[in-house]
Amino acid sequence: MNYTLPTEVKNILNKLQQSNFQIYIVGGAVRDLLMGSASRRISDWDFTTDAKPEEILKLFPDGFYDNKFGTVGIPSKDTKHLGGGIFEITTMRKEGVYKDHRHPVEVSWTDQIEEDLARRDFTINAIALHCYPELDKSCLSTTGSINIVDPFNGQDDIKNKIIRSVGEPDKRFKEDALRLMRAIRLASELEFEIDPKTHSAILENATLLKEIAFERIHDELFKILVSGSPYIGMIKLREAGILQIILPELEKCFGIVQKGPKHDRIYDIGEHSLLTLKHTPSTDPLVRFAALLHDIGKTKTVKTEPDGNVTFYNHDVVGGKLVLDIAKRFNLSNKQTDKLYRLVRWHLFTVDERQTDSAIRRFIKNVGIENIEDMIALRIGDRLGGGTQKAVSWRMEEFQKRIKEVLKKPFTISDLKVNGNDVMKELNLKPGPKVGEILQKLFEEVLENSSKNNKDYLIQRIQQLH
Ligand code: ATP
Ligand code: MG
Repeated sequence: MNYTLPTEVKNILNKLQQSNFQIYIVGGAVRDLLMGSASRRISDWDFTTDAKPEEILKLFPDGFYDNKFGTVGIPSKDTKHLGGGIFEITTMRKEGVYKDHRHPVEVSWTDQIEEDLARRDFTINAIALHCYPELDKSCLSTTGSINIVDPFNGQDDIKNKIIRSVGEPDKRFKEDALRLMRAIRLASELEFEIDPKTHSAILENATLLKEIAFERIHDELFKILVSGSPYIGMIKLREAGILQIILPELEKCFGIVQKGPKHDRIYDIGEHSLLTLKHTPSTDPLVRFAALLHDIGKTKTVKTEPDGNVTFYNHDVVGGKLVLDIAKRFNLSNKQTDKLYRLVRWHLFTVDERQTDSAIRRFIKNVGIENIEDMIALRIGDRLGGGTQKAVSWRMEEFQKRIKEVLKKPFTISDLKVNGNDVMKELNLKPGPKVGEILQKLFEEVLENSSKNNKDYLIQRIQQLH
């Protein structure tokens, strides 16, 4: 290993060592360093020390301490390399008995690094690096300036790409059920396999996730969604029995097939949902979530018609309602909820460049201008996830061009749902300036509120405007 430590990281190591405290790098940064993937920048640095939170705060006046588990956060100023993140320094600790499958009842400080590593979740996360940056100012290298503490052979598991619990897996998952999600998340982020014994303990304890706050599950799920292979992550969640607990609506999609004389579908709805996620060209976890959930309404609308065809009428409307429940469960913000809803509710849009301007305008209004590109990405995923080989059809390209045109083109009087003839007929008028004046007034009203552009309403207004 040969790695240049960021200056701020060296400062943290130096400051604590100069005050005669132990200080180790732990967590994801160690994994990245040992895996040699450190060429991509490490933005998240975790440390552990025998200094108590108050002692750490004395050394770092801009640090903050806002939880009872001994973690001091220090904001990074290096926005360029470290994304302006937070350095987390946790006082080394031993943990006793846990309650409610999440929280240790008591935490006591220790100055033995091995004791601290023993309470960590997986062997690959239970490795500490003791560095002496002052010995080698520019660079961390295994020749002299670094000492690896690895009591659970995490390095072997990194080499063999294995996620394995520290200690007895069953006990460790019962202590803290969030580890169930973390195991799958790490496996899909790192593309590692879960050790069989750890995996059977996950299966046995999956229901414990019911007791974990959904915001925490949300964080882990979204990390799976942004990972390099969210498709694999979802398969792993399903195999581990976790999907049916956190997204029962999606689990129910497996086994439902759209078949019948008129349809020749290759995949069931569950597999199609996962494949849509896989093929949706967006890295935004929320768009990926929408791709995963776009057909969720099909479980509630599935019907076998007398001719043998299976249909899912209104699954877009029902799906929209279901994702509102899911958004609430996962504690999504209003903005995220709105986007998820729109992407699922309107995913059945018609791709046809021959539509009228106002039909295209309605599509834009329903989906939201800011979501159009994501909606197209979802459609691409939907097509590829259904077995189509080509991502974009010529029709889709034409349709996208029309959207651009319509966005450039202002709404005009000719887009009104009534015209001069309607005005003349309703008011018994002859052609003349009065007809134009009334149309202009209607036009101004519709510009204010496009939902007023419906024929019944406008006819009624013509009478009133007279
Ligand atoms: P990431 O790349 O997401 O930051 P990480 O491994 O650093 O991965 P963190 O959530 O930052 O994950 O946690 C830092 C370290 O704290 C982990 O590597 C692990 O040693 C320990 N840890 C975190 N959560 C748990 C947990 N629920 N149970 C036991 N140890 C945990
Ligand atoms: Mg971390």
